[in-house]
Amino acid sequence: MIRANDPSLKSWVEVAPDSDFPIQNLPFGVCKMGNKRAVVVSAIGEYVIDLSVLAEHGFFDDIGFDMRVFEKETLNDFIAIGKEKTAMVRDRLSLVLDTDLDDWDASELEKYFLIPMSEVHMLMPLDIGDYTDFYSSIDHATNVGTMFRDPENALLPNWKHLPVGYHGRSSSIMVSGTPTIRPNGQQKPNDGPPVFGPCKLLDFELEMGFVVGRETQLGETVPVDQAEDFIFGMVILNDWSARDIQKWEYIPLGPFLAKNFQSTISPWVVTLDALQPFKVDGYKQTPAVLPYLKQSDLKNIDINLEVAIQPEGAAPTTVCRSNYKYMYWTMSQQLAHHTVNGCNVRVGDMYGSGTISGPEKSSYGSMLELSWKGTQPVLLDNGEERKFIKDMDTVIMHAYSEKDGVRVGFGECSSQVLPARTVV
Ligand code: MN
Repeated sequence: MIRANDPSLKSWVEVAPDSDFPIQNLPFGVCKMGNKRAVVVSAIGEYVIDLSVLAEHGFFDDIGFDMRVFEKETLNDFIAIGKEKTAMVRDRLSLVLDTDLDDWDASELEKYFLIPMSEVHMLMPLDIGDYTDFYSSIDHATNVGTMFRDPENALLPNWKHLPVGYHGRSSSIMVSGTPTIRPNGQQKPNDGPPVFGPCKLLDFELEMGFVVGRETQLGETVPVDQAEDFIFGMVILNDWSARDIQKWEYIPLGPFLAKNFQSTISPWVVTLDALQPFKVDGYKQTPAVLPYLKQSDLKNIDINLEVAIQPEGAAPTTVCRSNYKYMYWTMSQQLAHHTVNGCNVRVGDMYGSGTISGPEKSSYGSMLELSWKGTQPVLLDNGEERKFIKDMDTVIMHAYSEKDGVRVGFGECSSQVLPARTVV
């Protein structure tokens, strides 16, 4: 077991039982405080931990890396020091914050490195070079296939043989809190020529993203059983989707403008290390997958996922409760497949899971499925109904793992939808 994951650890920093950030989490992010430069931070309870302050005072000296990685505007350089060293940083933080240890007494420095979250502004944590989105939830793929094709053959013939995906757009991935402008685009009414205007069927997609922590060279492949060595951690991802634009444009090359106007991620990257205790058996894959996708220890991660819709001036209504454990294809299989042709990956690249739906209707990860193509409106607590997302609605996603009294969470991935811009 990783020492920092020990459920019996307690911090001298007070952490509420429902906090996403106990001493067992220690995720990484980037923030700004007032007019000061951006710094790399971790989190505990209601505080961010300024790693540049701890570095300045020598807390990481023996680990052996360039401390300037904590003074960057993204996590990329920190992640690039390698998983062995980033794990040592997390372990050191755990020692510093552990009630029972005084080897790393930091009490005199407390006011310099612990800053209330309410006083900082979280930034986009990554410089994402490339973004790929998969389609790896069997319940989601089955629902979509049932709605748009044939309930008898909902999954296309390739689906159980390879993790289907497409190359997405990284420039428009934004951090939680950034508004989402309703896209304009072409839509094709059933009876008549295509029209242009604001998307009428704006949807969220509940996803998790994983972040590459180690680069490969062109021609190199990542073996499925070593893939976790190449993954730094995970974020919540809302892969905003314009269903009416998507329906008209996607043939034959797949998603394009229906997806690339914006995606939203949570500001905290939770390390794969912190998620180890929450591993569960993977989806039983039949038929057997090809040898390069065969994972000797097929595991998923138990991560509770929630989506709420908050109309302007009203309280949020939770419209979906799903779980990352419903994934058919694992992250390791996705990365092994992505590189099996020699495609290189770089630190900071992001891979979306695809919409994560579960078997129950309440666990469907998009409005498309929750409202079943708009035929069954979703009731909100304020009495309003939604088939898709309206202007000024805020879509809020949460994700957390929980076991043995420890809750390791991802914080919030939230974005308000603003009206479409006028295009002449
Ligand atoms: Mn997606």
